[in-house]
Amino acid sequence: MNKDWSEKNRKMQSLIGKGASFREGIDVLIDLRSDLFGQITSIVNTYPAEAFSQMPFAGSEGYHSKTLAYSMWHIFRIEDIVAQTLIRQDCQVLFSDGWLEKTKSPIITTGNELQGEKIASFSERLDIKGLFGYCKAVMEATNTLLGGLEYRDLKRKFTDADKVRLIDSKCVSEDENAFWLIDYWCGKDVQGLIRMPFSRHWIMHIEAMCRIKNKLCRMARKGVDPAAYCGLSCDHCFLKDWCGGCRTAYNTCSYATCSPGGVCPNAVCCKGKGLDGCWECAFLPGCRKGFYETPDVNAVKAMALFIRKHGKKELAAVLDRLHRQYDFQKIQEILGEDLAEGLRILEESR
Ligand code: SF4
Ligand code: SF4
Repeated sequence: MNKDWSEKNRKMQSLIGKGASFREGIDVLIDLRSDLFGQITSIVNTYPAEAFSQMPFAGSEGYHSKTLAYSMWHIFRIEDIVAQTLIRQDCQVLFSDGWLEKTKSPIITTGNELQGEKIASFSERLDIKGLFGYCKAVMEATNTLLGGLEYRDLKRKFTDADKVRLIDSKCVSEDENAFWLIDYWCGKDVQGLIRMPFSRHWIMHIEAMCRIKNKLCRMARKGVDPAAYCGLSCDHCFLKDWCGGCRTAYNTCSYATCSPGGVCPNAVCCKGKGLDGCWECAFLPGCRKGFYETPDVNAVKAMALFIRKHGKKELAAVLDRLHRQYDFQKIQEILGEDLAEGLRILEESR
């Protein structure tokens, strides 16, 4: 489990268990949920539509055998049902503000009853932007519920009438892979629900989503030119396990993720000019776009200039050599920030 998430989860559980620190525990929980939701946000903002219905681990055991879209649907359907129908005895978010229509979901259940191909075809039907909006609305509604809880509410238990309400909602399939959820939720008190659907369940599925997206990136990079438009080398990049590279639709480099359309400015510019990379551009020395925006950070530009002189293969050979000689992650740790010095180091490493 991700160390930060696991640590926050452990801290939250310990704090909410005591009256004096309960409120602080809820704050930690909301903070943890915000961190986790940030992962979903960046996936939705940066990955192509096709990514959400892919099953790169189809047939495996575990949460990563699903799709990105299914994972989002499943996490937030469960939370919506538990928070609104079970705890608040109110209308679910899905049935307010047109969320069911906006998600375009053909089902209202948690999805536990779906297996294999059915998960992929269900995912294809979902509107990802609509689904993301629904997930956000559920998170906010639950955060409001959590913020209004008192320490004494934690021990509240559920009754047969609660079970009947859940069954009547038809939001849990009668399939044996799903129906057990009703007994499972109703066997817990509110504290138990905070510990699973509202926290740990998120962590497990969002970690699985990260595994899915990492695998999709690795698959996307196969057979694609590893020279990034800016001069970096995707084969030598410390982000290569989760970024598909700027020549694929799975570009999640730092500049891509915070740029319009999720595409790196150097990639946009090169494509617009019909260039293989910035090394082919007459404006390279003075350019301040994307990876070149900071005038005193020049390692990437040094690599583009090196490619201009010696070619992409030669840069890859030099980077292989440097990685054998030194233990480093970012190329600026070796080349420094000065352009002339960076180029000199590359030249001397040939
Ligand atoms: S961050 Fe840049 S260099 Fe690294 S893999 Fe992505 S596109 Fe390639
Ligand atoms: S203007 Fe800058 S970003 Fe655009 S191709 Fe030239 S060097 Fe690259």
